[in-house]
Amino acid sequence: MQKDLNWDTTPLYTSPVAPELTRAFDDATTRVAGFRERYRSRVAGLSAESLLEALKAYESLQEALAKPQLYAHLLFAADSENDEHKRLSQKSEEFGNAMGRELIFFDLEIIQMEEEPFGMLAEDPLLANYRHFLMLLRKFKKHTLSEREESLLSQKSLTGVQAFSRLFDEVSASLRYTLEMDGETREMTGEELLALLHHPDRELRERAFGTFLKRHEEHGILFSAVFNNMALDHAQELELRDYKHPMEPTNMGNEIPTEVVESLMQVSEANYPLAQEYFRLKAQLLGIPRLKNSDVYAPITESDRKYSFEEARSMTVEAYRGFSEEFAQLADSFFTGKRVDVLPRPGKGGGAFCMGMTPSLPPYLLLNFTGNLRDISTMAHEVGHGIHYLLAQRQSMLNYHPTLPLAETASVFGEMLLTRRLLEKETDVEVKKSLLCAKIEDIIATTFRQNVLTRFEERMHLERAGGLLTAGTLCDIWWEENAKLYGDAVEMIEPYRYGWSYISHFIHARFYCYSYTCAELVVLSLFQRYLKERESFVPVYREILADGGSKSPGDTLAPAGIVFSDPGFWQGGYDLLGDLISELKALL
Ligand SMILES: [Zn+2]
Repeated sequence: MQKDLNWDTTPLYTSPVAPELTRAFDDATTRVAGFRERYRSRVAGLSAESLLEALKAYESLQEALAKPQLYAHLLFAADSENDEHKRLSQKSEEFGNAMGRELIFFDLEIIQMEEEPFGMLAEDPLLANYRHFLMLLRKFKKHTLSEREESLLSQKSLTGVQAFSRLFDEVSASLRYTLEMDGETREMTGEELLALLHHPDRELRERAFGTFLKRHEEHGILFSAVFNNMALDHAQELELRDYKHPMEPTNMGNEIPTEVVESLMQVSEANYPLAQEYFRLKAQLLGIPRLKNSDVYAPITESDRKYSFEEARSMTVEAYRGFSEEFAQLADSFFTGKRVDVLPRPGKGGGAFCMGMTPSLPPYLLLNFTGNLRDISTMAHEVGHGIHYLLAQRQSMLNYHPTLPLAETASVFGEMLLTRRLLEKETDVEVKKSLLCAKIEDIIATTFRQNVLTRFEERMHLERAGGLLTAGTLCDIWWEENAKLYGDAVEMIEPYRYGWSYISHFIHARFYCYSYTCAELVVLSLFQRYLKERESFVPVYREILADGGSKSPGDTLAPAGIVFSDPGFWQGGYDLLGDLISELKALL
């Protein structure tokens, strides 16, 4: 049975040692060399017509390069302890790096074009599909180095940041825990321990979370070395590329001005009391004087209801069906196509993700389903990402990936659809309360918690500039930023000092976390419109997703009337959270 719930990667390649896979690496290498020979040192002189041809060839190359690498990544995520997977993953990383270096000239030559000819090309209707890509590249003009320098930096990153990132992944996935539960000693993965934060037994929740964190503390030397190297590497990069602030490169790539990000964060902080109000309410619901942070996700009713995978799947698909038949069919295609890896197991990566592939290959989903309601939310979340990617397949490769600030839109919207459907169908007040709590906790996790994470990350980078950060310093920064959110409403358990050390976003995607905050607030606004407009909103929303990364976030959201630069917009999202808390209070 278990095997049925694994994803099927054979439509990509039949095995990690398949000859087609070796051929894919070889063919792509040959094609890259051909592209380089044809265009190197010639990009500046291209007419609109030939630049169009070059961009199309470049996209087709990117697709050919992506396929074997994505396959390697999927295998590694499914079982990082398999030696074949490790070898392939390492080969793929070196391959991607080498190919990237061969191709870097193309972006650089576009970036270095003279203003006037570039302006003419950017305005040419022939290149309309690539205007956003070209304009975004050019924004990085003053932060870009020569081809030789870029190539060297990239090459050395294999043994630098990328090596540390790999070490982080391998060590994290290798950690095993033992826990006394129901009178027996069990061996568990980190994911299984974290799932116990939803267990009704208060003592067990704290012990499970503590066990998880203490194991991280034992590896404190390693984790703090990884974090320090990430921060030092970024600091060097900022200096070499002349950026003023650690968040600047991310914000530029996201096409959101730094002031707007700062305003998002300040509005979030001003609303921390809203979270504290909820935490006090939750303590009341649990019948305890004050929450510990291991109680935040505790179930409020005794029922420890578990759902089978089949139930979860059907609940997810039906939630999307309530929105549109097309969305339901897209959602179900992941399950019928065996593109979901469902259960946790040793060696499998933690958490959950959706792997967007290319405009011609459908995405894959990784879950760690343990059967609680939150796992169904996660399923609806990842399926939302999947639908986003499927709809964006009408875009060409360079416009396929949604821009980061919108990357979490469809996923969070999908979770909202699930909650609303469950609330509507439910008649039992106790269950309704649970559902509302779960939704509110979710919003707190995607807004306030991500804001805490972003502030930690910002301070980590800023304070690393003053010298090495010891594990103790990282713990202190983490503690201080979390304390701002929890105030006196929640007591943090002592081992939580090491809570920073397992957040892989800090390692894999710098300053990604505020994308969640941004998306949640966008979704709260979109969802309000959907509730008001119902069917007529469906095509508006569908277009937002189908735009993929072809436009800036601002341009993508304009048809829905969303303006990021207005701080009132962010506050509007938090007001809706306030309404949900009132809805819960009304049930008490
Ligand atoms: Zn997501």
